[in-house]
Amino acid sequence: MKNTAYLEINGAIGEGGGQILRTALALSLCTRKPFRITHIRAGRKKPGLRQQHLTAVHAARDISGAQVEGDEIGSSTVSFAPGEIQPGKYHFAIGTAGSTTLVLQTVLYPLLLATAESHITLTGGTHNVHAPPYDFLAQVYLPVLNRMGVQVTATLDRYGFFPKGGGRLRVHITPTTHLRGLSLMERGKIVKCQATALTAGLPEHIALRELQRVTEKLSWSQDCLHHCALPPNQGPGNVLLLQIQSEHITEIFSGFGQRGIRAEAVAEGAIKMATDYMAANIPVGSYLADQLLLPLALAGEGELITTTPSSHTLTNIETIHYFLSVPITQTHLKGDVWVIRVG
Ligand code: AMP
Repeated sequence: MKNTAYLEINGAIGEGGGQILRTALALSLCTRKPFRITHIRAGRKKPGLRQQHLTAVHAARDISGAQVEGDEIGSSTVSFAPGEIQPGKYHFAIGTAGSTTLVLQTVLYPLLLATAESHITLTGGTHNVHAPPYDFLAQVYLPVLNRMGVQVTATLDRYGFFPKGGGRLRVHITPTTHLRGLSLMERGKIVKCQATALTAGLPEHIALRELQRVTEKLSWSQDCLHHCALPPNQGPGNVLLLQIQSEHITEIFSGFGQRGIRAEAVAEGAIKMATDYMAANIPVGSYLADQLLLPLALAGEGELITTTPSSHTLTNIETIHYFLSVPITQTHLKGDVWVIRVG
């Protein structure tokens, strides 16, 4: 591997999180450019590769026969030289409650641009704090991605919560030779709001208290509120999902139950995000914005209106520019409203 010219990526830039590694792996596979990343997750409490990131590195290796160095738990440097993408059937088992949706982000884009369909099974966490919950993937992210000329569907077989994991997600990818750009400039009218409190192996009052806060703060009517009690053996776990369906886009804001955090506080975090989103009258929330940058950059064009760019968004732009020279601009429109243009 010594003679290959590697892009040198500093994993400590900006957010200093796992996204830098995932974006680098995905774009390395798409562009066939090898890279070496140092200071992996330097901005996190436990830096270096954790099980979820190691699984992402190995997933990227497995779909391309890549040559990899430094792929061990705790490692802060990884060298990655991709091979040719091999679409097909894969199972990536994280082995912990690490996020399946984040591991998916690593292999999704190369497989979207492959020559045949792929069937991916991922096991681990499906509803993790600091990661897209399955519902966000299936109801928010994939419907937008599918407007770009691909067809990706996701199925949840089993929920997985921290710390037990054991969740299972299946994804079917029908690729394209040409990703279309996207324009997400308008939200349109809000047509439906739904709050779903999921509990697994936890008392019902947790969900009821979360939904009570939604009634108090958002004034959503009773028929918009749902408690879904999952089989206890899929828990313990709790998440509150606030879905806002508008004419042109659906968004989901979530609060994750955690030991030591009261149900009311879990609900309030999600309610605050939903309230800010509705007040700003924008189509694309902050999480969706950072996650759409990569497919838009691969498409070479796109535009979206969103909130003030997050640290994840700014860092992802910087990481993308290691591999692709497509211009990405952020323009302030008013208050908390920004437009991001790609190409
Ligand atoms: P990192 O912290 O670098 O591992 O990146 C986390 C990723 O998860 C980013 O792309 C975030 O947009 C995404 N993310 C975190 N929390 C949520 C959430 N509640 N809903 C949707 N996406 C999320």
